[in-house]
Amino acid sequence: MPNESQSRREIVYYGKQLHDCGYVAAMDGNLSVRLDRKRILATPTAMGKGMMRPSDLVIVDMEGRRLAGRRNVSSEIAMHLLIYKLRPDVHGIVHGHPPTSTGFAAAGIALNKPLVCEVVIGLGSIPLAKYGTPGTPELTDALAPLIPQYDAILMSNHGVVAYADSLQHAYMKMETVEHFAKIALVTHLLGSQQQLSEQELEKLIAARSKYQGPKSAAPMPLGGAGGCGGNHHGHPHSPQSESDMETTKPIRAASRNR
Ligand SMILES: [Zn+2]
Repeated sequence: MPNESQSRREIVYYGKQLHDCGYVAAMDGNLSVRLDRKRILATPTAMGKGMMRPSDLVIVDMEGRRLAGRRNVSSEIAMHLLIYKLRPDVHGIVHGHPPTSTGFAAAGIALNKPLVCEVVIGLGSIPLAKYGTPGTPELTDALAPLIPQYDAILMSNHGVVAYADSLQHAYMKMETVEHFAKIALVTHLLGSQQQLSEQELEKLIAARSKYQGPKSAAPMPLGGAGGCGGNHHGHPHSPQSESDMETTKPIRAASRNR
């Protein structure tokens, strides 16, 4: 685990990446790292993510009270704290508004079709949480049922949150979501979506547990109808491997959650 000063540098680095990639504008987005059982290091409110210094960050306890730092705590800290509470395996969180995936979130469309093998291995499927006003319990209530099963979530009419065992991996998951959203958009423009079949998905499940071990909590995408269109709503995937241990509760991905 990185120490506090390494974590500060890491948040500054990935904050700049988030900004430079166009995943946030102005003072949007936030990042955090779990320092230990009781302390979270996070980006402050009202600050561009491309211009932060390590000393700008704040440390909060698990109730969101500021323990250190001159700047104010982000109102979106509650979302981070909820994720850390529900997922002891998570040590880094990235939240941003990448344009294409946020476009899906604003269109009310989940990224839950098995279209690209690497996305199936890395993330399974990306559900759409219903809308909640930022900084209020509405938002955390909408995310809570999805957090145990997924490693990245589209937030309706808002953006994306991704989390992992490190900030670097959380950032990579965010990148994968945005890249996949662009690909899904192209398939939509081309008017054809050739979904991976159930047999191919089974092989990818096996590959995922080999690459990621039990760390990924993400279930498989819905559908797997093996043809254009397919059944958009599909069925919840039943656990097949150690990596799916946490997916036993059959919560449906909230596709077209309107
Ligand atoms: Zn936001």
